[in-house]
Amino acid sequence: MNNDTISDNFSLLAKLMDIHGENPFKSKSYANAAFQLDKLTVPLSTLSPHQINGLRGIGETIGTKIVEQIETGELKLLNEYLSKTPPGILDMLRIKGIGPKKIATIWKELEIESLGELLYACNENRLTLYKGFGEKTQHNIKEAIEFFLQHQGLFLYAQLEVWVSLFEQQLQKQFPQQPTQLVGEFRRQQEIIHQLDWVTTVKPDQIATWLTLLNFTLQNSENPNHIQAVSADGISVIFHCALPDHFYQKIFLLSGSEIFLHYWQENFGNVMDIACKDENSIFTAAGIHPIPAAQRESVAIIEQARENALPAVIQPNQIKGIIHSHSNWSDGSNTLEEMAIAAHEKGYEYLVISDHSRAAFYANGLHPDRILAQHREIERLNKQLAPFVIFKSIESDILNDGSLDYPKDVLASFDLVIASVHSNLKMPQEKAMNRLITAIENPYTSILGHPTGRLLLSRSGYPIDHEKIIDACVANQVVIELNAHPRRLDIDWRWIEKAIDKGALISINPDAHSIEGFADTRYGVLVAQKAGLPVAKNLSSFSLAAFNSFLAAQQKKR
Ligand SMILES: [Zn+2]
Ligand SMILES: [Zn+2]
Repeated sequence: MNNDTISDNFSLLAKLMDIHGENPFKSKSYANAAFQLDKLTVPLSTLSPHQINGLRGIGETIGTKIVEQIETGELKLLNEYLSKTPPGILDMLRIKGIGPKKIATIWKELEIESLGELLYACNENRLTLYKGFGEKTQHNIKEAIEFFLQHQGLFLYAQLEVWVSLFEQQLQKQFPQQPTQLVGEFRRQQEIIHQLDWVTTVKPDQIATWLTLLNFTLQNSENPNHIQAVSADGISVIFHCALPDHFYQKIFLLSGSEIFLHYWQENFGNVMDIACKDENSIFTAAGIHPIPAAQRESVAIIEQARENALPAVIQPNQIKGIIHSHSNWSDGSNTLEEMAIAAHEKGYEYLVISDHSRAAFYANGLHPDRILAQHREIERLNKQLAPFVIFKSIESDILNDGSLDYPKDVLASFDLVIASVHSNLKMPQEKAMNRLITAIENPYTSILGHPTGRLLLSRSGYPIDHEKIIDACVANQVVIELNAHPRRLDIDWRWIEKAIDKGALISINPDAHSIEGFADTRYGVLVAQKAGLPVAKNLSSFSLAAFNSFLAAQQKKR
């Protein structure tokens, strides 16, 4: 083991001791040892234990630990700390601008254990509520995490959208005569993107040269017709170079899931044998209606197309109301009035304001007296903005035992209640199910918010039995939220078809914490399209009149 590794180990040990709140003198001595060893020019492995103990900044205790590392290749004390530290906390040490002290606060007080959760907390303004975290610190942490996550090679769909459009503009400018088509995960509107794929008739060497000029790093590929490269900001791209005669066939073959394509070729033969003037030629040759790329996931969709029974899926412009939104009464950044006026101006017919409930103290959750005050404000605005309507709601925390956050008389004052889990997210399935089912069975619950609590690319969410949750929602007339925040997209779209079959109603909700947040609804629609969600099964597509009837039916449950 060389000096650098030993020094790094001590440095990490010192940080972990600080994070775990150990005696600062102890941790400082390890940090100091790391600093001294860094400057040492003689390899430690050539020194005797006696010589090591005599080095500047090293005493007997640390000396012994140096010898231990030279002899065993490990530092037992460090391993002990590592084993009791979640990996996400270790990731935080790699983020510029947060030292061990801040990490300790983030972990122990905010109960955050991963970078994704931390990023989400920054977006929700939660850090500023803690000592040592000003607005500027929060902003810097946010930027540093975004940078770090970008370099991990996986991206949310929403993170790549602008990049893709700018990149395609350049591509078009560079090769104006040759057709190129975006395919793969992005074309299929997947929520997480590993790589961006294009089919092009441009020659491989021309693509390679162009990408190099744009500062991409070319990667080895076994197929000479595949040009694979990574951008300076860590985005992987692959160009599938095709002959003009095979352009559309390649597009088709790169725009469906594996199961879809397998079933297709089994039923309709080799796509490469079809003469194409466009992608639709392939569908025409098979004698079926074209299937949008986003829906080319399952075998069932092929059968539906065969029977001419493709569902008319929801479109982004078919959202009539903003359901699930936060104002600065809790942790949103706009006032209630600003939110309402903006929703009205954007053409929505209604806005459901669902600020956090009192258990969400970190989000400035509402105590009953503030609920009353907010309701008066809503009534005032409703007079002013009619026929636009603001509905009184609350995003009630589902408490540990599954109960909602207020007594019945307070719950009864809302037009509807969205019930969500925000605390003690780490729980086994049995506990999660008990909590959720109890909340779903509560007659005041109208919508189950972000059913699993997942944060894409950062937190998997608590385990649930999706089928049982869907059944319970149907039985209790509770709507299942498709939380449209691009980091949530929860319920997972893969469950939507089943939910619809069982008679559930979905609601695509932006969970907007600002006016800009309304736009997130679109990401929910994009994944809902993958699931074939018909507009009639989406609550936020209900007209104001239909939404009022929905609320009247909900009132009867109480
Ligand atoms: Zn929530
Ligand atoms: Zn919310």
